[in-house]
Formats: sequence, structure tokens, C-alpha cells
Amino acid sequence: MKKIPVHLGDRSYDVHVGAGLLSDVGRSLAAVLTPCRVAVVSDEHVAPLYAKVLEDALRAAGYAPHRLVIPAGEEQKTLNTAERLYDGFLDAQLDRKSAALALGGGVVGDLTGFAAATFMRGIAFVQVPTTLLAQVDASVGGKVAVNHPRGKNMIGAFHQPRAVFADIATLRTMPREELVSGLVEVIKHGVIRDAALFEFVESRLGDVLRMDEAALEHIVARSVEIKASVVQADEREDGLRAILNYGHTIGHAIESLTNFTCYSHGGAVAVGMCCAAKIAVGMGMLAPMDAERLEQLVGLLGLATRPAGLDPKDIHQKLYADKKTERGKLRLVLPTAIGRVVIRDDVPQKVILEALS
Ligand code: NAD
Repeated sequence: MKKIPVHLGDRSYDVHVGAGLLSDVGRSLAAVLTPCRVAVVSDEHVAPLYAKVLEDALRAAGYAPHRLVIPAGEEQKTLNTAERLYDGFLDAQLDRKSAALALGGGVVGDLTGFAAATFMRGIAFVQVPTTLLAQVDASVGGKVAVNHPRGKNMIGAFHQPRAVFADIATLRTMPREELVSGLVEVIKHGVIRDAALFEFVESRLGDVLRMDEAALEHIVARSVEIKASVVQADEREDGLRAILNYGHTIGHAIESLTNFTCYSHGGAVAVGMCCAAKIAVGMGMLAPMDAERLEQLVGLLGLATRPAGLDPKDIHQKLYADKKTERGKLRLVLPTAIGRVVIRDDVPQKVILEALS
């Protein structure tokens, strides 16, 4: 069991990581949040598996939980569903001293966080992530949002949770593709900040894919430490936090050019990471051997390393339409070694096109 602090002044909180901690959530939460009415928001897949044990733990610590279950899936991350949550909060008689707890993957986390940020101008929010992606990434950092028909995460806020409880044991039931998606983010954390984490995934991939709890606990805890250190330095993405977009800028362009149908999100980010590494090699910033190591690891996850069937020129054009351009310049996060990245806005078009080919 590990407890990782996220230092953000009066918005500081701990991320608890360990197997079986669900039944202890109430007791741990009571140390930071006075017992109150709590809306436990979950989806149709996760609620039947874990809501009861969580609610029993909350009740035992003096909280009054009220369950709200939404259908599963990214399509639910909308203002419409947020409005249904507001109705549920009102039915459960939540007031400004109440809390909303997200039990589920990143969709439930982002949506519940958004509803918590806006209901009565903001109520307390607690994250209990149950996918690897949500544990290593989405539940930490306070970005909450819903989608708009014109773009993902367009309507959102920064609303830090009071606590995060990542129970490794819940990952056992998560769909297989979710394991791969989460691992892509773990590899990203390794490339941007921690060569040892990258090496751990390389050397223990078999254990991780077998869902060995000790291996999973290590990669979740280390990823959370890395994300926490970046968020602490730049909570609102004015600078450093942009390094977390490594692989996402190109990945997003590929996803949107293929209408979100050909690539999983993790698959697109993996291609994006490999292409960014190739660009870094083209710029003479990264040793070709490091780019090959990344490609090999991505390949072992069964993911592509290059965008197939897309014209590099179309991807390049799409990159400029991406929200990560600043004053018309394309900003790319590029590795200079495994464990280190820089942000560059002066990459020649020729180098980008070559890497995307
Ligand atoms: P998800 O929330 O859609 O969950 C994937 C599927 O797994 C769902 O069907 C869900 O019901 C099911 N599931 C979840 N946990 C389970 C478990 N333990 N057992 C069985 N089934 C389980 O997907 P996700 O990949 O967790 O999250 C993706 C979302 O996260 C996206 O909307 C993305 O924008 C968001 N995100 C947010 C941030 C952030 O900083 N806020 C960062 C990264 C991603």
C-alpha cells in the first residue's frame, strides 16, 4: 500500500495505491472529509462489481452514500448526462457540504468531476478509479470535462479531488484493451520522466500482462508520482504540464483523421509517441537506439508504430488544426533520451513528414 501526496497548497491531497483498499475508503476519507451525504457515481459495468463494498465502507465511517448509475461509454461524457447527475444530486439532497465520488474509469471520473465542479458552484470530489488509465493518469491532476459535439473535453474545469483511491485489485475485471491503453500512458510517463519505469515495463511486461499485483502496484504508484510532480509544478498547464501531451498531439490528429474508428485511443497515442521519437531522431536529438527500444515495446503490446493508410501531408495539416499550436506554431514534445523530453516549436516540415511516412 502506498500513499502519494500531491502538493497543491490548500488543494493538496493523497493518492492511495494498493490492492484491496476499497473496503477501507471510508476510514481513510474521514481523515480529510467530514462524513456527509455522498453521491457514488458509477457506470453499469463497474457498479455491480464494486459499489456495494465501497458503500458499506462509507457507511461504516458515517457517510450517507446514494448510488447513481449511468450507462458505460465515452458517449456518456456529455452535458446531458451531467444534467442527469445534477438531478440525482438534488434527489439525494446533496448540499454544498456534500461530496460526489467517482467509481469507474476515466469517463465516470471526468464526468463526475465536472458535475462536482459545477453543482452549487463546486462540491467535494473523490476519485476511485478502476481502469489502469484512470489510475495512472485521469484521476490525478484535477482536469475534469465533458465532450462537445465539436470536440473532446471542450467544456471543463480544474477541480482537484479531495483524495484518490486506486485499488489495484479492481483492475482484474477491467477489459483487456483497457490494460493496453493504460500501459501506453505508463510508457509515456517513463519516456518523459523516468528511464527506470520504462525499463521496469520492458523487463516485467510478462508479469504486468498477467496482472501481477506487485508489478501493477509499482507502475501505478510510480506513474502517479510522475504525474503528481508535473501537476505540482504547473497545475493549470501554463508550461511544464504540456509534456504530458507527449504522443497525444500526433495521436489525436490520427484519431480525428480516421473519425475515431480505426485506432483505440491508446493505439493512436502509441503511434504518436513513436513518430515523435522518430522526429527527435531526425532532428539529431535522440539516439536511434532509443527510438527502436520504444518501438519494440509498443510492438510487444500488439500496437502499431506508424500511421497506416494515412497521407503524412494530411496528418501534418491536421496537426496545425490541433489545439496544441500556439501563435500558429506547432509545439511538439520530443524525447532527447528515455526519461527526458523537451518542447520544440521549430521542427521543419520535412522532418515531420519523413517521420510520419
Ligand atoms: P472508460 O471510463 O470508458 O472505461 C472503459 C470501460 O471499462 C467501460 O466500459 C467501463 O465500464 C469498464 N470498466 C472500468 N473499470 C472496470 C473494471 N474494473 N472492471 C470491469 N469493467 C470496467 O475508459 P478509460 O480508458 O478509463 O477512460 C477514458 C476517458 O478518460 C476519456 O474520456 C478520456 O478523455 C479521459 N481522460 C482524462 C484525463 C484527465 O486528466 N482528466 C486523462 C486521460 C484520459
